Amino acid sequence: NLGSSLRGTLNDLRGKSRISEDDIDNVVKEIQRSLLQADVDTSLVMDLSDSIKTRALEEEPPSSTSARDWVLRVVYEEMVDLIGESTELPLEPQTIMLAGLYGSGKTTTAAKMAWWFSKKGLRPAVIQTDTDRPGAYDQSKQMAENAEVDFYGDPDENDPVTIAEEGLEATADADIRIVDTAGRDGLNQELIDQIERIDDAVNPDRNLLVIDAAMGQSAKEQAQEFEESIGIDGVAITKLDGTAKGGGALAAVNETDSSIAFLGTGETVQDIERFEPSGFISRLLGMGDLKQLTERVERAMEETQAEDEDWDPENMLEGEFTLKDMRHQMSAMDKMGPLDQVMDMIPGMGGGLMDQLPDDAMDVTKDRMREFEVIMDSMTEKELEQPRSIGASQVKRIAHGSGTSEERVQELLEQHKMMSKTLNQFQGMGDADMERMMKQ
Ligand code: GDP
Ligand code: MG
Repeated sequence: NLGSSLRGTLNDLRGKSRISEDDIDNVVKEIQRSLLQADVDTSLVMDLSDSIKTRALEEEPPSSTSARDWVLRVVYEEMVDLIGESTELPLEPQTIMLAGLYGSGKTTTAAKMAWWFSKKGLRPAVIQTDTDRPGAYDQSKQMAENAEVDFYGDPDENDPVTIAEEGLEATADADIRIVDTAGRDGLNQELIDQIERIDDAVNPDRNLLVIDAAMGQSAKEQAQEFEESIGIDGVAITKLDGTAKGGGALAAVNETDSSIAFLGTGETVQDIERFEPSGFISRLLGMGDLKQLTERVERAMEETQAEDEDWDPENMLEGEFTLKDMRHQMSAMDKMGPLDQVMDMIPGMGGGLMDQLPDDAMDVTKDRMREFEVIMDSMTEKELEQPRSIGASQVKRIAHGSGTSEERVQELLEQHKMMSKTLNQFQGMGDADMERMMKQ
């Protein structure tokens, strides 16, 4: 695990007040390994390595800063410098056009972005101009429906420019217009000509380039082409829920002198995150990021919160993990992604701890979840708050009340114990240094 070896190398610096060239070399080597494996362009990695080395060795660390903290800070700052802050997206009326190759995730991202803006209180509309791909209209319409946003498309019209123009008129009531475009298997003149014509007709406030996280090094060339033809103001990286870390997109950002706006983390309209450098850096380096976790937990909880006003997700990470927490965790899981994925983002959890747990420790299937919920509905407040108070006679009563079996109730309690144990381990790990730094 790359992240844990970087963590290990950094931890070796603990207690040292001065850093040697060897120390820095070791850290930089680990970072290079992580970044190259994440598909970051080689020359970008080399530039970054040089600036980290130079700064870490030549600049005087502030007094009272340990060697480890200093290196972490330099690494982080230089990486933010490379990756950039999030693309600015004012919450005001605007037109955004999406460009990118076939299959990169444009149509999905259009609906996701519309959903995201609608959650910010704006009224978005998706305009579908892809006349090449059979089914693009239906796919886009369906996703706009899922996102509960306005939609315009015309399956009988063959000219994308006409659709775009009519779409702008038809969606005059919307605040945010998101114009989806066709892609091609590769970059070709036809694609470029078409998108230039749409760009002229629509005159978008922003053009976003949509890049598949698995794109790798060829993202650079693609970005150059689109930058030359329509100008790129920001990048959306999709499919970050897979194994690819999206490092290739950094070359695109560099090439277009732009920044990253959104991250796609799944196939449904809610699987979108606003780009945020600290989380992305943590992911690239394979180190956890509590900040992102907290945000994700919070967002998912916003919707479940209404059911239970006094429930606070922070408690889950701080205090005792109750059955109530578990119930919220389960009902939020659809929105947050599987718990093991969430766990990956917690400092110390990504680095192998998950591997030490039984395979099914975090794996609660939908059916099991539903059954667990039924069982929990038969529990008292006290039992939910203090699962340890549940003895044999309560188990019997709960099984009877929920129409399940004592075995099932025991299973639920086991599951809770395992999740609770995992969270406790995390609480014990602490990664205050990293977290403090990330917040700056
Ligand atoms: P387009 O050709 O650029 O419009 O790409 P689509 O939006 O049609 O997406 C192509 C495929 O990638 C579809 O099957 C999408 O469901 C899938 N996809 C898009 N974004 C994501 C993502 O963030 N995660 C995952 N897992 N799949 C995605
Ligand atoms: Mg499409």
